[in-house]
Amino acid sequence: MVLPVPLNVHDDFERFFASFEPAGQRRQTSLPVPNPTKSFWLDSSPDANPLAAEGSTGALTADPDIVIIGSGITGVAAAYNLAKGLQGQRVKIVLLDARDFCSGATGRNGGHLTSHGFFNFSSNVTPRRGLVESALEQHTIDSVAEVVGVQGWAKEIDLVDSGRLCLFFSSEEEADARRRFDSARAAGVDTSGVQWLSRSEMNKTHGVDFPAVRIPGRNVWPLKLVTKLFTLAKSSFSADIKLHTRTPVTSITRAGSGWDLRTPRGTLRATYVLHATNGYAAHLLPHLTGPQGIIPVRGHIIATRASGPLSGKESYIGNDGFEYWFPRPTSSSRDAPLVILGGGREVAPNYDIYVTDDAHFDAKVGGVLRKFLPSVCPRSFERARQPEMEWTGIMGFTKTGEPFVGPVIDQRGSKSEFTGQYICAGYTGHGMTRAYACAEAVAQIIIADMRKQQWKCPAWLPSEYLTWNKA
Ligand SMILES: Cc1cc2nc3c(=O)[nH]c(=O)nc-3n(C[C@H](O)[C@H](O)[C@H](O)COP(=O)(O)OP(=O)(O)OC[C@H]3O[C@@H](n4cnc5c(N)ncnc54)[C@H](O)[C@@H]3O)c2cc1C
Repeated sequence: MVLPVPLNVHDDFERFFASFEPAGQRRQTSLPVPNPTKSFWLDSSPDANPLAAEGSTGALTADPDIVIIGSGITGVAAAYNLAKGLQGQRVKIVLLDARDFCSGATGRNGGHLTSHGFFNFSSNVTPRRGLVESALEQHTIDSVAEVVGVQGWAKEIDLVDSGRLCLFFSSEEEADARRRFDSARAAGVDTSGVQWLSRSEMNKTHGVDFPAVRIPGRNVWPLKLVTKLFTLAKSSFSADIKLHTRTPVTSITRAGSGWDLRTPRGTLRATYVLHATNGYAAHLLPHLTGPQGIIPVRGHIIATRASGPLSGKESYIGNDGFEYWFPRPTSSSRDAPLVILGGGREVAPNYDIYVTDDAHFDAKVGGVLRKFLPSVCPRSFERARQPEMEWTGIMGFTKTGEPFVGPVIDQRGSKSEFTGQYICAGYTGHGMTRAYACAEAVAQIIIADMRKQQWKCPAWLPSEYLTWNKA
């Protein structure tokens, strides 16, 4: 079967990513652009994003203690963890977003909340690394599951816990997965939830003519999770949490022992600043421009309807993770589900690296996404059917795939140059399963600094993520 996307390009992409630098202006990271494409999560109904314009008019909140720039999963999880850790104190926390609430990657992503599991083990990493990476993902999933369970949100946020099928389009992909599985087992990982499925089994059960491995996995409506977490943070603790959307921070300058954050609506002065700006981080922190920092990379998604009911509710991933999709829940088993499919970046010019324009899509990427599911599951998707929605979003990639967590440090400058500024960003397209835990860690680092206490790295956080450990 011929697929519309090139296969086995992961190594090519890594090499290209490490060496490619566009000239001049194109290298600079912009602010989020106005009028982004409309995503299913943010725009499928007029009331999908109730906090869209919260705090976008009137006066800005005066004298905040902590300003968080960015209202995606990182910014909101940080606000929640800061408020929780500072319970009993009347601190003022302000979240700013350049556009609508949660309108960055979190409001435009693929909706998968799934650990890479045994895929975290490869010949390039030590078993310790694979274990701690998996521990971080598990910590995120457990933390989110706990709050969702206690609050009873599962249905409202469309949490589906039906597993993930990783399809193998080539024998190289399957052989690599089997090697990773063996390494994980050798490192003592519990792989009892893993099930290998042959091509004929997959054909019989899912109408897909490729072998696969089934791992635990979930999907979710990300905006709904973040909206609920923000509302919970505001109502549960003593902190005063305010949100100002449509308020881009254009520059940050030193002001006494704190920082002045300039916006078109006025200047905010704060003692502590957290950059939760992911793919846009280098706009305010230019030393993070280029392969040593955080590079914006554009991703494409379509929402397309199957031609009839699908067998199974699993999410899917294939082609080394370049393509990923899952069926939205339906009200009846007779309904044809809407499927959220992301990928196609392999055919974009320069893999869409250094692109911050999520107001447009690439026609070539859109073309291969339209052909993809009818090629993989011809019995369930019609070639002539057009997507119901199509959008783009901006991810933040790093050379090693590891995010930046901790105080802002420019290795070329003085250690105290950014004292009071922190960052939590750069998940390399895999943030839903890592951002919550990273935000919890950075919130604890800020609280320890406020209290002049020593911070202790939790066992679930890879020390490579910490900014002071970056080369
Ligand atoms: C197309 C696509 C598909 C993806 N699919 C998945 C998936 O299925 N599973 C998964 O785990 N991950 C996925 N990801 C990655 C995941 O969405 C991100 O890693 C995660 O959402 C990052 O969250 P964040 O809060 O750090 O960043 P964001 O959600 O991008 O939030 C950053 C916010 O900062 C704001 N901002 C930036 N600069 C400024 C400024 N100067 N002033 C004010 N505000 C500013 C932005 O407007 C934005 O709202 C995908 C990403 C994309 C784009």
